[in-house]
Amino acid sequence: MPKSVAVIGAGLAGLSAARVLRRAGCYVEVFERDRTIGGRLATTRLGLSAFDTGAQYLTARSSTFSKYVDEIVGAGYAARWQPRGATGAAAATMQQWFVGTPGMSSVLRPLAESVRIHTGQRVHTMERRDKGWYLWFEDQSTQGPFHAVIVAVPAPEAQLLVGRLDRLADPLNRVRMSPCWAVMVRLDVSVMPDQDVFSDMTETIRWVSRNNAKPGRSGRGDNILIHASPTWSRETEDADPESIAEDLWAEVSHALGLPPTRPAQMAAHLWKHGLVDISLGETFMFSTEDMVGVCGDWCLGRLAEHAFDSGARLGKVAVEALS
Ligand SMILES: Cc1cc2nc3c(=O)[nH]c(=O)nc-3n(C[C@H](O)[C@H](O)[C@H](O)COP(=O)(O)OP(=O)(O)OC[C@H]3O[C@@H](n4cnc5c(N)ncnc54)[C@H](O)[C@@H]3O)c2cc1C
Repeated sequence: MPKSVAVIGAGLAGLSAARVLRRAGCYVEVFERDRTIGGRLATTRLGLSAFDTGAQYLTARSSTFSKYVDEIVGAGYAARWQPRGATGAAAATMQQWFVGTPGMSSVLRPLAESVRIHTGQRVHTMERRDKGWYLWFEDQSTQGPFHAVIVAVPAPEAQLLVGRLDRLADPLNRVRMSPCWAVMVRLDVSVMPDQDVFSDMTETIRWVSRNNAKPGRSGRGDNILIHASPTWSRETEDADPESIAEDLWAEVSHALGLPPTRPAQMAAHLWKHGLVDISLGETFMFSTEDMVGVCGDWCLGRLAEHAFDSGARLGKVAVEALS
């Protein structure tokens, strides 16, 4: 009888762990709060256009993630992106940038194959009984028993789930994550200067990119993606998304000296636990006594590649503990 494992969170970390467990012969079920998978590697639709609202590009420094990037590039799920307009050292760094095609969430495609994923299922509580772990959902339904649980959600949300397991919960207090507003702006005409990316433009604006300049995207006019700075995002966390979109677009237009243009569509999304300020300093945590592990970008860094490596390493350790 194969060992059963529940994975909470269908972002890069959770699905990377799920693949390792499934390849080792475990029965894996993934539970995701949102209606779609991908977490902060999201691709979001605004009318007929799709925007990468979270991670903008991937880097691959570790051999594990480099191998995975080669796999997805070979399968057509990702491609190299060298934005226009950069010069010198910045241009050299960008030669190592990859993006999912046709959207960032394509990066997860091979990981999601052959894994049972339940979307729209927010895990509320984990409960251990004689036969193993049971998960409880917001609608009071339950799933289980599972031999082990992998918690692959941002640290503050992991704290809510493993709060009673001191061995895992206490170190989570060290981690700090910041919010980040993402604004999608769709313009019917092209008004942006001949440059695809602007970083740290003002104290408010952390990042601006022309989303449809990435490989595999198309579309008339400009699809502009704006990220606000963590400080500004924290100060405005409770504001109305419509006014956030207006404010950030006005600031970008002003900073770039753009001609007055009314966007065809705009929308804002808040990544409540978007960016890692202080990481855990360990690749993952696993408690053999509890048969529960936690993983995510926040364990060792702040990038997608850290999420992938964290999930893959935790998956391996969980397989050993289950055998
Ligand atoms: C604005 C922004 C820009 C970024 N830019 C870059 C970049 O350019 N390059 C880069 O490498 N990285 C970037 N990152 C970071 C990158 O997106 C993350 O490192 C990576 O996506 C994290 O993956 P993860 O699986 O650890 O977490 P997540 O992607 O957050 O996945 C966690 C999943 O768990 C789900 N979940 C949470 N709670 C529950 C629950 N109770 N029950 C069920 N499901 C739950 C969530 O819905 C989510 O899908 C950026 C992030 C943001 C927010």
